[in-house]
Amino acid sequence: QLTCEVISIGDEMTTGARLDTNAQWLSQRVGELGVTVKFHSTVGDTLADNVDVFRIAAARADIVVATGGLGPTRDDLTREALAAVVDRPLEMRESAMKHIESMFARRQRPMPERNSVQAMFPVGSDEVFNPQGTAPGIDLAVDRTGKPASRIFALPGVPAEMKRMFDETVAPRIAAMSGGGSRIRHAVMKFFGTGESDMEQRLGEMISRDREPRVGITVSGATISLRITATADTDETCDAMIAQTRQEILRLVPEFYFGDGESFEQQHAIEARLRARDESLAVIELGRAAVLGDWFASLGDSPAYRGGLSLATRNDLVQMFAASDFSDAVDQVRTKFGSSWVLLVDAYPALDVASDTPLPAADVKILAIGPDGKKQPFELTIGGHPDILHARIGKSAMAWLR
Ligand code: ATP
Ligand code: MG
Repeated sequence: QLTCEVISIGDEMTTGARLDTNAQWLSQRVGELGVTVKFHSTVGDTLADNVDVFRIAAARADIVVATGGLGPTRDDLTREALAAVVDRPLEMRESAMKHIESMFARRQRPMPERNSVQAMFPVGSDEVFNPQGTAPGIDLAVDRTGKPASRIFALPGVPAEMKRMFDETVAPRIAAMSGGGSRIRHAVMKFFGTGESDMEQRLGEMISRDREPRVGITVSGATISLRITATADTDETCDAMIAQTRQEILRLVPEFYFGDGESFEQQHAIEARLRARDESLAVIELGRAAVLGDWFASLGDSPAYRGGLSLATRNDLVQMFAASDFSDAVDQVRTKFGSSWVLLVDAYPALDVASDTPLPAADVKILAIGPDGKKQPFELTIGGHPDILHARIGKSAMAWLR
């Protein structure tokens, strides 16, 4: 099995001014390709140190993925460091130069002289095309005695640029190196209602490292994502492998599944269900928090979410509508928003929003008041850091979603 070292370059990481998120993202992606990441290294913007780090990495890993130091300024030293590692000069690459010029032309700005250094490549290296920025990446093989050459991929530090370049160019090259075919396809399945360890236990062999296709598990808030990665010679083969794996997963954990796609969240599942029934909802939140309102507002403009009210107490709501009592006020809210459902959070637990400590998850009783005026429970758990309160709907709401 191939091994990898991930290198992050920049004083902003070694001084602690910036968190190294590139290494985390890259390690997950590289792992999904069946390559074991054995080392992470972080190095500041000093030429000699960069040369050292690259030498060590190329000696001990089959694949090296580095980010940073490809900018046009003096402290961007990755090109020079790589040239020193293979003891070859830098040469001007015409295709890269044209691309950099066109990037400036497109923004209708003159190209500063110093940007031309970004078209310099160590002799014998390949370009990694950067569709978004001026800095091309470098793909360089480093010979090793008694072992196949180590392959260094150097990418810009800007997260959005490096992610796209990795997915579009580097990943297929790595997949080809491991002999599994150079087509790569992903699928993401979303789950909630259980914890990560229970999920892992129930999936068993499915998430083992040497299974094909690979299934990676990540948790964000209360949502568990399974990311399936298939590599093969054709997209069709990848898709067939993914379809097969999806079925096996759904057989093992059918009850927690709620949808597909990287950015598909529980609120999207609720919205899809409402739209399928031609229904809609509005939200009343009492108690100085608006977790649900924020949650559904993130859907953007949707006919399924009509809006929400956030007030301190029941009494405030009654007064606002000059209602005869609380249930009359709730009815008026439904009429005002024209929604079929009203989700009512009668009171949030005391959320100390000013404090900086994470909250324990707390259950909030929510009543879903339906089109027929009947009530049904719609449990919600909120918790986490006050800035990023997350919500999770419970089992009966899950049943309602189906
Ligand atoms: P550019 O052509 O944009 O100058 P570069 O290769 O020189 O690319 P850097 O100057 O090192 O990249 O970094 C550009 C931006 O990306 C900076 O905002 C930096 O903080 C950020 N960045 C660099 N490395 C990382 C990392 N490992 N994790 C998160 N952000 C990073
Ligand atoms: Mg830098």
